[in-house]
Amino acid sequence: MSAFITAFLGVGPAMALGAALANHGNTSAVPECVQACSHLANIFGPDAYSLGNANVTLWDVKQQETHSACWVQPSSTEDVSTILSVIIDTSCRFAVKSGGHARDPDDSVSVGGVTIDMQKMRSVEVAPDQKTAKVGSGHVLLSLYEGVEKYNLTTLGGRVADVGLGGYTLGGGFSHLAPKYGLAMDNVFEYELVLPNATVAIVNQETHPDLYFALRGGMNNFGIVTHFTMRAVKQGQMLGGVRAYRADTRDAILEQAYELTTSWKNDTNMAFYYDYGYDQERDDFTITVSQEYTLPVLNPAPFEQLNRIPFEHSTIRLDRTSRFSIETASATPPGGRNLFATVTYSPSADLDRQLQDIMAKGLQPLKKASGFFPNLVIQPLYEGAIRAGKERGGNAAVALLTVRWGNAEDDERMNAFAQEWVERSTATTKSAGKHHPWLYINYASKAQDPFLSYGEANQQKLRRIQREVDPQGVFTSDGLCRGYFKLQ
Ligand SMILES: Cc1cc2nc3c(=O)[nH]c(=O)nc-3n(C[C@H](O)[C@H](O)[C@H](O)COP(=O)(O)OP(=O)(O)OC[C@H]3O[C@@H](n4cnc5c(N)ncnc54)[C@H](O)[C@@H]3O)c2cc1C
Repeated sequence: MSAFITAFLGVGPAMALGAALANHGNTSAVPECVQACSHLANIFGPDAYSLGNANVTLWDVKQQETHSACWVQPSSTEDVSTILSVIIDTSCRFAVKSGGHARDPDDSVSVGGVTIDMQKMRSVEVAPDQKTAKVGSGHVLLSLYEGVEKYNLTTLGGRVADVGLGGYTLGGGFSHLAPKYGLAMDNVFEYELVLPNATVAIVNQETHPDLYFALRGGMNNFGIVTHFTMRAVKQGQMLGGVRAYRADTRDAILEQAYELTTSWKNDTNMAFYYDYGYDQERDDFTITVSQEYTLPVLNPAPFEQLNRIPFEHSTIRLDRTSRFSIETASATPPGGRNLFATVTYSPSADLDRQLQDIMAKGLQPLKKASGFFPNLVIQPLYEGAIRAGKERGGNAAVALLTVRWGNAEDDERMNAFAQEWVERSTATTKSAGKHHPWLYINYASKAQDPFLSYGEANQQKLRRIQREVDPQGVFTSDGLCRGYFKLQ
């Protein structure tokens, strides 16, 4: 198995909203949605229906500020089907929310329409052989981990407790188990899906092979997933945690990151990612490296060299997956305006450095912006983990730029900063002959088209499947559910 590395840059983008909906709010909901909400209020009552987003975690302020005509919280697949029927009958716009970690209005909080909040759907049914678990799509990763840990199992959740299983899995899903099993989406054996015509389908390789293909990376383009049947694996305590380093250790860290991605790629118990972030208070950069090893070993061989580099502080220990997810969530709390952007390339310490330097140069004029926190996360992706990787072969690195800031007035220049980072990083990886076209949908910016990166044949196949299951275009960019990334 070979590895990919992906880099991800995050900043909070402002999405242009239609003028008709710009002044949305409970009192200015579009008429179709007033009717839809009135029906939903009658059917679901105050326990599952509300006008606002109280008691709901939304990670980004842009989504927190978004007003829907109403919110509804289904408890079952039948509820979801009923809600979708009402919505379609009234032609009301809607959005589906799992953990609420998307970053723009309409992604998972409807602008003036109905927000379907899946948070009541958190069942866990472990199969008798304990090799799979059927779980509700409204889980956050902590509730998922806690649910399966009762059986000494874990599954392919991500790193952060409050990220939702829905968006994470439908987009891909990087976790500490990715080196061994691939992305979360490649470990879903069955989906329970409410189709765009509001009927229910059980989707697996045998029943609906095309839809099964489409749901692995197809995001919210094919219906509303209510349950995933996912791989479960035995897991006791494992190694995890983070070590923080001074910026002057960068050369040594870059070298070790490269070694871990290439020389150690066959030790699939090992996963890691590292961050290069700007600390506004100190006007300096910090580096953190997250170590993961699925056995209860404190200093496993892959990390021996890394562990010789002097660090400032460390949380490395043996613990449960759920506990690590709580720790990681505390480092990325809700709040701020945020943007993500991503580039993928073949592993190279030199390119890691160059992409970090592009971020460092680009952020200079923004240093004084309120609440400014740009951070570059670089992590390996093993080729078995993504279809694009399988097709092209070879290792890759996924770079994720994340940017956080405080004021709406800065939206435009933050978007420009991220866009420039993408353009310069793409050009740099191309001129090094190491560019990889794959864009991880859950790390992409709105200026990027992750579906384009799936290749023309896959896009055509996805479009055909969408036409078949959604002839009215309910889940398309012109339909009723328009947010996040749409198949063009
Ligand atoms: C702090 C933080 C940490 C992260 N860590 C990781 C990580 O470790 N690994 C990783 O791979 N990614 C990670 N991500 C990226 C994350 O996977 C995406 O942001 C993901 O889309 C979030 O899912 P959500 O359910 O929380 O968000 P939401 O905003 O609720 O949903 C995102 C999109 O998915 C759609 N959706 C959600 N549920 C359903 C459903 N049941 N049916 C149909 N559509 C649905 C929504 O409509 C929306 O368009 C992280 C993001 C953040 C902000």
